[in-house]
Amino acid sequence: MICSQNDIKFYNDFQLTNYNTLKIKSTAKSFYIPDNDGELVTLLKKFKNSNPIVIGNGSNILFSSKGVDEPVIYTGKMKSHIVIGNTIEAQAGIKVQTLSKLALDKKLSGFEFLIGIPASLGGACYMNAGAHGNSISDNFISAKVYDMEKNKIITLKKEDMDFSYRHSILKEKPYILLSAKFELKKGLQEDIKSKMDENIIFRKNRQPNLSIPNAGSVFKNPENCEFSAGALIDKCNLRGFQIGDVQVWKNHCNFVINKGNATSDDYINVIFEMYSRVKEKFNIELTPEIIYIGNMSRNEKEKWKILKK
Ligand SMILES: Cc1cc2nc3c(=O)[nH]c(=O)nc-3n(C[C@H](O)[C@H](O)[C@H](O)COP(=O)(O)OP(=O)(O)OC[C@H]3O[C@@H](n4cnc5c(N)ncnc54)[C@H](O)[C@@H]3O)c2cc1C
Repeated sequence: MICSQNDIKFYNDFQLTNYNTLKIKSTAKSFYIPDNDGELVTLLKKFKNSNPIVIGNGSNILFSSKGVDEPVIYTGKMKSHIVIGNTIEAQAGIKVQTLSKLALDKKLSGFEFLIGIPASLGGACYMNAGAHGNSISDNFISAKVYDMEKNKIITLKKEDMDFSYRHSILKEKPYILLSAKFELKKGLQEDIKSKMDENIIFRKNRQPNLSIPNAGSVFKNPENCEFSAGALIDKCNLRGFQIGDVQVWKNHCNFVINKGNATSDDYINVIFEMYSRVKEKFNIELTPEIIYIGNMSRNEKEKWKILKK
């Protein structure tokens, strides 16, 4: 049911299948779609004590098949942007692929790596998303963030963001990103375009596209290890390993796909098997990149606790 509260759109018992790239069937008790910063802040204030969950493109999320009780706020309508000289400032919900194309159009170099990442800007900053040796932190200048604890909007500079491999301060503090500003470099349009094309081709055989439901890399690459997470999992003979409709992708073992009716329990069971086998064979504890959201079953709770420790 669609409703409107202070003109902010919201739905009760909302199906989340189309709001996560893994296409897990899950239901949010309430789902909100703010149109702008003001509406998002209004919702964050209203739900201060209900642990609201802000999502972008849902490309790094595992929603619980048992549903989500907390209010879920989707930023996908907050996508305005402005380009001044070499700087681009944009709202949290814009897709980073749109920013990559915008930069190409404006002959600005530095966002070529974003062309294949199906993220919103908010999600990309939260995760410090990266590829091809670059990450969102590279060209970052500052962000406008709502501090849920202090109930106010603050500006964070790059040095405040605590960026590292798939990490930012947004994971540590109750901060919700409203918009962010980047400085790029002038470039030749044909060079920018050919780098973007190269990046797209590179991904083609190494990553499933979104027609095969998935949530990107399951595990971070371990530090100080000559092998990637995918290679370690492969060495444990888990290529194609399947429980229910959840399968370790046959082309690259750090991706797990939904073959139709995947449940979050099956997903957790599969990634726990990946984690356990790598630990047993190499004594390496892989760390999941994916974020779990919602009501965990007992099995999920027990396994997730081990996976995230
Ligand atoms: C096919 C595929 C390819 C991928 N390739 C890459 C890759 O090359 N490199 C890479 O790094 N990742 C990759 N990913 C993973 C994913 O795209 C990134 O982790 C991305 O940063 C997630 O962005 P999102 O908007 O989808 O965030 P979501 O999945 O919606 O959310 C992720 C987390 O960010 C938080 N969040 C979202 N918006 C905000 C906000 N405004 N303020 C505060 N917190 C917020 C959410 O609460 C959640 O905890 C890939 C995923 C897929 C499916």
